[in-house]
Amino acid sequence: MNEKIWLSSPHMGESELKFVNAAFETNWIAPLGPNVDGFENDLKAYLKAGDVAALSSGTAALHLALILADVKAGDEVICQSMTFSASANPIVYQGATPVFVDSETDTWNMDPVLLETAIKDRISKGRKPKAIIPVHLYGMPAKMEEIQAVAEKYEITVIEDAAEALGSLYDNRACGTLGEYGVLSFNGNKIITTSSGGALVGHNPHALTKVRFLATQARDPAPHYEHSHIGYNYRMSNVTAGIGRGQMEVLDERVRQRRANYSFYEAQLQGLPGIEFVAEPARMFSNRWLSTILVNPETSNGITRETIRLALEKLNIESRPLWKPMHLQPVFSGAPAYVNGTAARLFENGLCLPSGSNLTTKQLTATVDCIKSHWQ
Ligand SMILES: *Cc1c(COP(=O)(O)O)cnc(C)c1O
Repeated sequence: MNEKIWLSSPHMGESELKFVNAAFETNWIAPLGPNVDGFENDLKAYLKAGDVAALSSGTAALHLALILADVKAGDEVICQSMTFSASANPIVYQGATPVFVDSETDTWNMDPVLLETAIKDRISKGRKPKAIIPVHLYGMPAKMEEIQAVAEKYEITVIEDAAEALGSLYDNRACGTLGEYGVLSFNGNKIITTSSGGALVGHNPHALTKVRFLATQARDPAPHYEHSHIGYNYRMSNVTAGIGRGQMEVLDERVRQRRANYSFYEAQLQGLPGIEFVAEPARMFSNRWLSTILVNPETSNGITRETIRLALEKLNIESRPLWKPMHLQPVFSGAPAYVNGTAARLFENGLCLPSGSNLTTKQLTATVDCIKSHWQ
């Protein structure tokens, strides 16, 4: 068997161990400490953000953002349907209901026109949504200007799920800083990783004071343990934050490498009938976290994304269908959804190709050779 080619595997730089060792040497093995402060400062500077709180996961960051947006039991929250389940699950943690909105075809993200349709309809039913969660899927920025305009018109908080989009830009502004709150993830397969971890981004220097309080069990100021709020254990550890500090040193390089993967696939596969790529619209810069293609069986002579996925699998090359839309997931079958068919079609025809920043030319070539063989 050939050595496995992964979809997206961790890729360490030179300095991660140095920061982790410093945590050991100083005995800062806690969910607080100099690496957490340092990682937050690095992220803040990189994003040009007002405030960043390092947390235990992207999911935790979304959960706390919903709490800041005052989402409570019985409320509704609009969420992009085409996404990973973690975008929607925290809505349910709050006892609220997700309302799913389909995608447009330029970026594969939340359709701003359908968003307004959904909001108007929910308002007509007496159920004005409390928040909107757009996602920058695979690193491609959503149409944030249009989405923000709708959100401002109806005065609804935007929580930007930028878990896949660290390093992506919209109008030269960092994804994660465009909404009222931004969510980042450093899970093992993301563009940089702390093995597991996440962050919440806010605008002014103290925007996340309440988040830090809630994320460390909501202790009121007192010598004993005094509580007037329900707290969470959601802070990032000082050990894993050390990995994050090292990873920040190589983030721009990782973006460059991921974009080079995408360019390679595009150059090699572009002309094949039925294979489609999604270009970067004007003003948008994608980190190309995952390289994705669409395989249209109507023009590919019957070749499907599944034909290709199985052929790659035989060669021990990992690829994966795009996210299955949330409105098609059994667990969310009862949730309201505003649908135009785009997400369903993307799921049907889309494939994520090996995209790690540590892939070799040989591995990329093996992948495109396997795909091209279907057209020979
Ligand atoms: C990874 C991811 C998350 C969740 O982040 P975790 O750190 O794994 O909890 C949320 N939304 C999207 C779109 C993601 O890809």
